[in-house]
Amino acid sequence: MQAVFLVGGLGSRLGDLTRQTPKPLLEVGGRAFLDYLVEDVARHGFTDMLFLAQFEADQVRDYCAQSSTIKRLGIKATVLEEPDRAGTGGALWHAREYLADRFLLLNGDSWLQGNYCALKNLLESRGALCAVALRELEDTGRFGRVELDGHNITAFAERGGEGEGGRINGGIYFMHKTVVDRGGPVCSLEADILPNIACEGVLAGIDFPGYFIDIGLPDSFALAQTEFVNAWRRPALFLDRDGVLNVDHGHVGSIDRFEWIDGAIETVRYANDLGWLVFVVTNQAGVAKGHYDEEAVQALHRFMQAELLKHGAHIDEYRYCPYHPEGIVERYRCVSNDRKPEPGMLLDLMERWPVDKTRSLMLGDKESDVAAARAARVAGQIVSSNNGTMNLLVIFNKNIIQKLYI
Ligand SMILES: [Mg+2]
Repeated sequence: MQAVFLVGGLGSRLGDLTRQTPKPLLEVGGRAFLDYLVEDVARHGFTDMLFLAQFEADQVRDYCAQSSTIKRLGIKATVLEEPDRAGTGGALWHAREYLADRFLLLNGDSWLQGNYCALKNLLESRGALCAVALRELEDTGRFGRVELDGHNITAFAERGGEGEGGRINGGIYFMHKTVVDRGGPVCSLEADILPNIACEGVLAGIDFPGYFIDIGLPDSFALAQTEFVNAWRRPALFLDRDGVLNVDHGHVGSIDRFEWIDGAIETVRYANDLGWLVFVVTNQAGVAKGHYDEEAVQALHRFMQAELLKHGAHIDEYRYCPYHPEGIVERYRCVSNDRKPEPGMLLDLMERWPVDKTRSLMLGDKESDVAAARAARVAGQIVSSNNGTMNLLVIFNKNIIQKLYI
């Protein structure tokens, strides 16, 4: 899946800060602001990235060549240099031969925490040309103001009213490439294209309730150094697999034996919508015992991810432990710190992702799941399973409410 970043703006309102540096590359918490966006977009499965640069485009190229995030997450990064002052619609128009038939579009100078897969799901379910992430604000003055009826955007204005509350355009879109064809070499997506699409009734919108920041003003840039950096660290939902997400038929290693438990997909989607990170941590001793190989485990996880995506949901990372001390496959016959009740998989995930462990939760169907959580100093909860009546969503919600996570 393709993501396109608009990183060509001059950032003139930031004065000296952006005299020599593109706004998305300004440092926030010791890292380029863009690097956070790249990580957040990639975890949703958008790993083919196109950067539409203009001002100091070489710096964007350098960023792409040097970013450890881009390397770690296997991102394919392409930088295009747009002509001067083409506008947002013009930048896309000049890049159209590089655009996928449908793509995610983001501004490189703001972050709206939310579920990007939900935008894709909304576009598909509504048959819309473009789906927009929206955010309610008390003062819409600086932003484009949007009127919403259900999931249908009925009015799209480039600027809001000073001091007026309402919904704003969050600057994140999932759209068909045909939207870009409606523009020209110099035009604005927000002023020239989207209002017309709204009039035709094919512009969809969804509220993203999460944290929002636009670093385009000195005050908000200063705020990013503290508030944004804190908001970046998020709760994680660690999910055991067999007996929690799917019915535990015993050593499930193939798609034909995989059966979702009621409420499992909805729970992942709900956690995604809340902005939580969601991980699978599963013991797969079936590999050590010779029931199936690692490729089969990975194929099953790819299948799960594709199924989840149909519902606008995703898992950020799948971790499995193929080892068992009594395995028959020699390679996998060993004691491993990854095998629950040991906490290896959780600890490693918390090392790699911005997890706030004090607000995180592990759901499993065995005592060993909770023990692993305890050892990693994360709250753990046993869910009863396999009778087909368990509703994971209810359990997850109960935990959130009890702990006042939101
Ligand atoms: Mg289990």
